[in-house]
Formats: sequence, C-alpha cells, structure tokens
Amino acid sequence: MRILILGGTSEASALARGLAGRAGLDVTLSLAGRTAAPGAQAVRTRIGGFGGAQGLAAHLGAQKIDLLIDATHPFAARISRNAALASGQARVPILAVRRPAWSREPGDAWTEVDAVADCPAALGPAPRRVFLTIGRQELAAFAAAPQHDYVVRTIEPIAGALSLPRLSAIEARGPFDAASEAALLASAGIEVLVSKNSGGPDTYGKIQAARGLGLPVVMVRRPDKPAVPEVADSAAALAWVLALRTREAPPLPCGRGSG
Ligand code: NAP
Repeated sequence: MRILILGGTSEASALARGLAGRAGLDVTLSLAGRTAAPGAQAVRTRIGGFGGAQGLAAHLGAQKIDLLIDATHPFAARISRNAALASGQARVPILAVRRPAWSREPGDAWTEVDAVADCPAALGPAPRRVFLTIGRQELAAFAAAPQHDYVVRTIEPIAGALSLPRLSAIEARGPFDAASEAALLASAGIEVLVSKNSGGPDTYGKIQAARGLGLPVVMVRRPDKPAVPEVADSAAALAWVLALRTREAPPLPCGRGSG
C-alpha cells in the first residue's frame, strides 16, 4: 500500500513513526516547506506544493498512491480542500487526522473572531501589551494596530513579516507547558494573548496560563475543512491504516472530485 501523508503537524510525524518500517507499506510524508530546518522524519519526505488540486491529483496518479492522509494543521485550509478534490479526481481514498478544537473552560475570557484579520479590532483602541502566537504568515494584519506593544513568538524568524516600533520577537518551537508559559506571560507583562484555536496539547499551555493569570484571549476560530472520513489523532489513524492493510476495515471513500 502506497501512502502519502500531508504533514506539517506533530500528528503527521507521529503517524509516520508508527507506519515506518512496516511490511507492505510504502510511506511518504509531504511538507509545504515553510520551515527552513524541519525536524527529522521516520519516513521518506518530499517538500513543496503540488500546484493546486490538479497538481496533487496528478501526483497521486503518477506515484500510484493508494491512500491519501490529510494530517495538516487545522488552519491549513487550502491544502485540505485540495486534498479532498484531488482524492475525488484521482479516485484515491482519503482519511483526515483532525485534532479537536479547544473549548472554553470556566475562568477563560475569550473573544472569538473568525479570522486573523479580525484580531486588531478585537484588541481595541487602547494600547496593550500583546502576546502574539498565530504563526508568521498572517502577522501583517497587526500593522493596522500599531498602538500596542507586541511580543511575537514564531518558529522561524519573522524577518519582514511585521515591522512595528514596539515589537520583540521570540523564536521557539513547542511543546510549551503551562508553568513556563505563565512565567513568560508574567515576566513580559503581557495583558492579552492572541491565539489560533489550534487544539491539541502542544500549545495548550499558553491557554492554561492565561486562565490562571486571569488574562483575556483573542481566539481565532478554525476555518471549515471539507467533509471526508476523519479521526482525531495519530493513534486512531495508525489503527485505521493497519486495519485497512489487513482488510479488517472497509475501504475508505474518495473525496468529491471537482464538485
Ligand atoms: P495552506 O494555506 O492550506 O496551503 C497553501 C499551499 O501550500 C497549498 O495550496 C499547497 O500548495 C502548499 N502546501 C500546504 N501544505 C502542504 C503539504 N503538507 N505538502 C505540500 N504542499 C503543501 O497551508 P498553510 O497554512 O500555508 O500551512 C502550510 C503547512 O504548514 C501545512 O502543511 C500545515 O500542516 C503546516 N502548519 C500550518 C499552520 C497554520 O497555522 N496555518 C500551523 C502549523 C503548521 P499547492 O497548492 O502548490 O499544492
């Protein structure tokens, strides 16, 4: 069985580790190429876009892929849409790994918005000290709110993604635990946190820390993802693939093609 995993998440890497070296499986992990030095992977990797849904469908055919696994980040909407379309076009079954979103707990003070572009307005006009943890790609939206002091944490250097007079940048790769996040928020004098609702344990520490310190959070809701068969974590995906291999699970359907 030839498997293509669309990755860039801890789930994708964990699934690759679980599948690596198993008889009868030939697994490739695909990365977008956003990080300059991605961590080592347990299976063969390929890096870079496919050229839209059509390009991915052509790749699935050319590589004789039997199963496509979309284990991309909850905010990576385009690749998931392309994956569902390509699955339908190339008639290759698809399985998605979709980690559950975080939900509001007692003590959480969240303002939820639909997109990163809505965050500056949600921060309000009065200057505040903001901890910005939404990745690098959409930082430019905050140029609209230069009155705030920003502490920006990203994996890669932000380079020219956002230049404001009062901005300090931290480069770090999770996981981050609640105690160290609380220490960071307190020492940096943070008044409000901006986060995507990424879900999962690796970056939940900042949400717990904000709750503990009584800090408000501007929380970006997830984009919609296409309806395809899905599981919540890498262990469930691994179990499904192994059951498919031995035909203990029924075959998975394909996506809906170009519809
Ligand atoms: P996106 O907006 O959905 O994708 C943009 C384009 O990047 C896609 O159309 C595709 O190009 C290419 N691409 C994305 N993921 C790919 C993959 N795994 N393999 C090959 N090409 C890929 O995605 P994004 O938000 O830029 O995220 C890029 C990657 O970073 C994803 O793999 C995602 O899992 C990871 N990531 C994203 C976030 C986030 O907050 N967005 C956070 C952590 C990790 P073509 O159309 O040319 O095929």
